[in-house]
Amino acid sequence: SEKDAALAAAASPAAADTPTIFDKIINKEIPSTVVYEDDKVLAFRDIEPQAPTHILIIPKVKDGLSGLSKAEERHIEILGYLLYIAKVVAKQEGLDDGFRIVINDGPKGCQSVYHLHIHLIGGRQMNWPPG
Ligand code: IMP
Repeated sequence: SEKDAALAAAASPAAADTPTIFDKIINKEIPSTVVYEDDKVLAFRDIEPQAPTHILIIPKVKDGLSGLSKAEERHIEILGYLLYIAKVVAKQEGLDDGFRIVINDGPKGCQSVYHLHIHLIGGRQMNWPPG
């Protein structure tokens, strides 16, 4: 199927720098609701929100980070920065009673877009364990 082909492509080494839909969002070729932007990161609302607040925080330059499992030492700074911006956006969204950060990785982690992204989810009671 098309989905299997996409998964296979994503799992191949070449996927590390293969463009995804997020490049089009970064380049404003497709619209998104941006809630935070600077020179390094972009945060925008998820098109299929799983909670009242559901935001994706992504690095503008992918640099091989198709997912967290591809992280190298050179990525340490941007990884820390993404997490810090998740906190800044959580505050901006008024999630003062708590929120959840999720990074899906690979097929078993239910990753669907192979450009690293942090999910910031909140505005309702979360449950544990996750699905
Ligand atoms: P993943 O499943 O962890 O890889 O997360 C990918 C997320 O991207 C999903 O929650 C999708 O709903 C979201 N998504 C996919 N395409 C778009 C889009 O065009 N705009 C905003 N969010 C998107």
